[in-house]
Amino acid sequence: MRTIESTNELRRLMGAYFQGIKKPVAWCTSVGPAELLRSFGFEVYFPENHGALLGATRTAGDYIPAAVKEGYAGDICSYLTSDIGAHLSGETPLKKHYGLKEVPRPDLIVYNTNQCREVQDWFGFFAKEYDVPVFGITPPRHVDEVTSAHVADVVSQFKDMLPLCEKISGNRFDIDRFRETLRLSREATDLWKEALATAVNSPAPMLFFDATIHMGPIVVLRGTQEAKDYYALLLKELQGMVAKGEGAIPREACRIYWDGMPIWGKLRSLSDLFAKNQAAVVASTYCNSWVFDAFDERDPFTSSALAYTEIFINRSEKAKTAILGRMVKDFGIHGVIFHDAKTCHNNSNARFGMPQRLKKEAGVETLVLEGDLCDLRFYSEGQSHTKIEAFIEQLT
Ligand code: SF4
Repeated sequence: MRTIESTNELRRLMGAYFQGIKKPVAWCTSVGPAELLRSFGFEVYFPENHGALLGATRTAGDYIPAAVKEGYAGDICSYLTSDIGAHLSGETPLKKHYGLKEVPRPDLIVYNTNQCREVQDWFGFFAKEYDVPVFGITPPRHVDEVTSAHVADVVSQFKDMLPLCEKISGNRFDIDRFRETLRLSREATDLWKEALATAVNSPAPMLFFDATIHMGPIVVLRGTQEAKDYYALLLKELQGMVAKGEGAIPREACRIYWDGMPIWGKLRSLSDLFAKNQAAVVASTYCNSWVFDAFDERDPFTSSALAYTEIFINRSEKAKTAILGRMVKDFGIHGVIFHDAKTCHNNSNARFGMPQRLKKEAGVETLVLEGDLCDLRFYSEGQSHTKIEAFIEQLT
């Protein structure tokens, strides 16, 4: 496998992000209104990113029992259980990896249930723990098409948040700062989209398993110049590879789409398995979840409300099937793997007949793979490898 050179800069940037978080700090869900918070001068911290880190470092399993003891079921969101469990245990991988004493303490906690209701309980727990205000945005869910009434509802909720943000940050709302932050976010997300789109080429320069790492800045640093600069660098490298005909793997026997969450603790072994079988996982729902085409600084409230409401996870089965069908076509996909994550039904799309519908409508083979984002008790490596290899064989 060819290594992406920009990874060194990525590591530096993520380190600088964590080490540079200063007060006032707002915690935010991964597809919450980060730009609006940033425009008040908040540093924004994302507990889901911490959940992913607990998964990737395979420490989640050490902490989930502490949350279960507190009354959280072992089969609800393992980001939630591992993050709460780590807090109750006084531990965080941020100590070892970035030299932090603890996770950054919040002054304000904001969630958006555009992705799931779990974040309401998760973030509510921490609001009590740290005795800080929590503000929830609750948009219309599972929409077919986003209507102007849906957007107006979310805009009004964003605006209701302003007095609280002013009070906690000590800064007046400034529409120009909001516009500027949204502009930077838009430019970064456009570059990220272009970087992902380089994988329409065969061989693809960046595959899903690398993309889950390179998406770090678009999650935690969107709305900053640093994120924009990083994606300009990454895109340049990927375009250079395409120009030279270089791919992440030299030869692609088949091209696969990954739907659902990554299995954070198994990125390396899965990446190796696919590479060994000359199967390229070239696109995914997950990495595309931080592409926000609607952002427009000329109308920052309406456009960000639209962007955060039209995300894939917040759409109807019909809308999701149509989006997947387009991805299959655009990326020349031979097979789709649906990761059925035991603890995240919100991001698992195989439970209402979508694999069958997609096969019929897009003419593509599908495989449902049982696993989990963080809790490896729900993932059987041997069985999964056998299933994946049989699937690849079917495709080639
Ligand atoms: S979408 Fe899934 S993984 Fe993400 S916070 Fe919600 S339940 Fe957890």
